[in-house]
Amino acid sequence: MLITSSLLSGSQESHLVELGNGHKLQPEVRDAFLSMQQDAFTAGHDLQIASSFRHLERQLAIWNAKWRGERTLYSIDGETLDAESLNDQEKLIAILTWSALPGSSRHHWGTDMDIMDKKSVEAWGKPFELVPEEYQQGGPCYELSCWLQQHASTYGFGFPYVEYKGGVAAEPWHLSYQPIASKLSHHITAEFLHELIQSLDIEGKETILESLPMIVKRFVVIDKE
Ligand SMILES: [Zn+2]
Repeated sequence: MLITSSLLSGSQESHLVELGNGHKLQPEVRDAFLSMQQDAFTAGHDLQIASSFRHLERQLAIWNAKWRGERTLYSIDGETLDAESLNDQEKLIAILTWSALPGSSRHHWGTDMDIMDKKSVEAWGKPFELVPEEYQQGGPCYELSCWLQQHASTYGFGFPYVEYKGGVAAEPWHLSYQPIASKLSHHITAEFLHELIQSLDIEGKETILESLPMIVKRFVVIDKE
């Protein structure tokens, strides 16, 4: 796999394979996932992908809708924020807490995915919202989550957003295929993002460009190798 800027920024799909349900991953990641899924199934968990590869254009559409106030903004505590009352810097932080800056999402690489226990979610009967409570004790994905904490690393998967450290909100459902993702994460620098953001039709461009060193420091997880 050649590490190009189009691969890093999610504008390339030629290195991906389909899983048959609309989800795309790199071949090595798919193989690792399928093997983990099989073993999870044997252990009684219906491990399924909720989200995998996400194209740059999709992330850009989410970003622009949030900046324009067409999608709700939330505080780290999950409270609704009034977009009108926020200045651009506050808006930037509010969006970044829950959504990656286009070009910096780990979902762009074909190595990362959001997972759930589908059978258990269906049996649960409440609307599934991909919130931490669903992965904690009493939630439909708790048992799967425990199994993954114990076994995911065997297949090469890690949890980059397992707890809130002042940047991205906790995402206990987010799995990253470390053998490839760790290498790619080192390429997401302020310089790389500067060139990309310049080229995009993105809302808040000036604010983003001024804030890139902070964004990388606080919101981009660079893995240990
Ligand atoms: Zn995710």
